[in-house]
Amino acid sequence: MSHTHEYDYVVIGGGTAGSVIASRLTENPDVSVAVIEGGPSDVGRDDVLTLRRWMGLLGGELDYDYPTTEQPRGNSHIRHSRARVLGGCSSHNTLIAFKPLPADWDEWEAAGAKGWGAVQMEAYFARLLNNIVPVDERDRNAIARDFVDAAQAALDVPRVEGFNRKPFTEGVGFFDLAYHPENNKRSSASVAYLHPVMDERPNLTILLETWAYKLELDGDRAEGVHVRTKDGEEILVKARNEVLLCAGAVDSPRLLMHSGIGPKADLEKLGIPVAHDLPGVGENLLDHPESVIVWETNGPIPENSAMDSDAGLFVRRDPELPHPDLMFHFYQIPFTDNPERLGYQRPEFGVSMTPNIPKPKSRGRLYLTSADPEVKPALDFRYFTDADDYDGRTLVDGIKIAREIAKTEPLAGWLKREVAPGPDVTGDEELSEYARKVAHTVYHPAGTCKMGAADDRLAVVDPELRIRGLEGIRIADASVFPTMTTVNPMIGVLMVGEKAAELIGGGAK
Ligand SMILES: Cc1cc2nc3c(=O)[nH]c(=O)nc-3n(C[C@H](O)[C@H](O)[C@H](O)COP(=O)(O)OP(=O)(O)OC[C@H]3O[C@@H](n4cnc5c(N)ncnc54)[C@H](O)[C@@H]3O)c2cc1C
Repeated sequence: MSHTHEYDYVVIGGGTAGSVIASRLTENPDVSVAVIEGGPSDVGRDDVLTLRRWMGLLGGELDYDYPTTEQPRGNSHIRHSRARVLGGCSSHNTLIAFKPLPADWDEWEAAGAKGWGAVQMEAYFARLLNNIVPVDERDRNAIARDFVDAAQAALDVPRVEGFNRKPFTEGVGFFDLAYHPENNKRSSASVAYLHPVMDERPNLTILLETWAYKLELDGDRAEGVHVRTKDGEEILVKARNEVLLCAGAVDSPRLLMHSGIGPKADLEKLGIPVAHDLPGVGENLLDHPESVIVWETNGPIPENSAMDSDAGLFVRRDPELPHPDLMFHFYQIPFTDNPERLGYQRPEFGVSMTPNIPKPKSRGRLYLTSADPEVKPALDFRYFTDADDYDGRTLVDGIKIAREIAKTEPLAGWLKREVAPGPDVTGDEELSEYARKVAHTVYHPAGTCKMGAADDRLAVVDPELRIRGLEGIRIADASVFPTMTTVNPMIGVLMVGEKAAELIGGGAK
């Protein structure tokens, strides 16, 4: 027997964008909202709320842990962490907080996302409730400080204090983070948007450990969603006004396809009845791929840190571009998970630099392999498959630049030897082979239900985030990104949430 519940709005996914939307809509006491969240609450969970414990969450019980398909030119072993907990990936991640650059938003607008240009988007950053602050003085590790000084000296890039203060094209410095430095606690989407209100708003219902597996459609109208609770109860959660799909770049397209919304031929092949042919669902799978270079240090590194990767660098190799084209995170740990598979050994004490590609050219695809909603979708990022090998070459440049920094004081004095790829690996071909085989993800999948103009066949949502050809349903999460932001995307996702709340008209001021 299945039950039916009814609310004004049903938010599927209490993650990064979903938390913002649920919070904003329920500011109006006359509006009822249900949040369907696959994971448990983060309230009172130190393992989740303590930022520096983020690595302990990877691959654990709060991780959906999606594999990639075979990557002939990349690393086939990458596991894509996606958080199964209130707050979504903002409860799992490193909370590096970059306002997307003006060029990122303008690129969206040029790609058909009318109304999403830099000037219009500025207001949503100002609305964010998260505590966004530079890495605190007490968390600034001596070796990270010396990385910043060395990079500045080696590359002649500006030192940046507060990356969100003004747009930049290059620079090195400590990041802004969404955290509370006094106790190293997260200022995630759930902490900032839901915790203060969830016990006080009778109009907000959060169904935890409840999995949405199929949308309920009546013709072209989304009426609600079928969910299964932790105890195995089946409920139809109906939306009087709208369904808001916020399950993230993997699970939003997955749910659509299991509901018969997606590329017709693919769905038919799997025996899924087609409700609405929408060829773009699952296409345009974006990410920030990175590689790694690891050094052994002369001894232990001081303990203090916000989350072990507190500083970074942006380089612009092509001066014609309005944004950086190479980014580095500096890790105060030897990040050897992928190199170890090639036979490298983890030094007892060490550091890493991870060059990544802010605007990669390769495009991937997410698709189903089974009509069974329990089976994980296939994620084929097609890493390093762009025709000119721009992506592969970018990582080779990254390793060379990282070596220049490592040679420069005050960082050089800390470093005993390069562990991976090692000083003997010098030719472009060899460097490329290494960089691609140990490649990792910065965990930024996006773009699989992209926003676009009416004449873009592959657009899944229009600039008001409404699913094309359907009524009563919008998508708001990282899947609507038409293109990848130069910078880490979480703030962009939160801003999508704020703008979505305004478009829906329920609660934003
Ligand atoms: C390890 C890691 C580190 C990262 N570091 C950073 C960083 O430092 N800075 C940065 O900018 N970005 C970072 N990111 C990326 C960033 O966190 C994400 O891009 C962003 O949080 C995605 O938000 P979202 O709303 O699209 O999805 P999510 O936040 O993933 O929300 C989706 C929610 O939906 C729920 N859900 C999914 N499917 C269902 C279903 N069928 N039924 C019910 N519930 C469902 C999930 O449980 C989840 O809570 C990182 C990501 C990871 C994983």
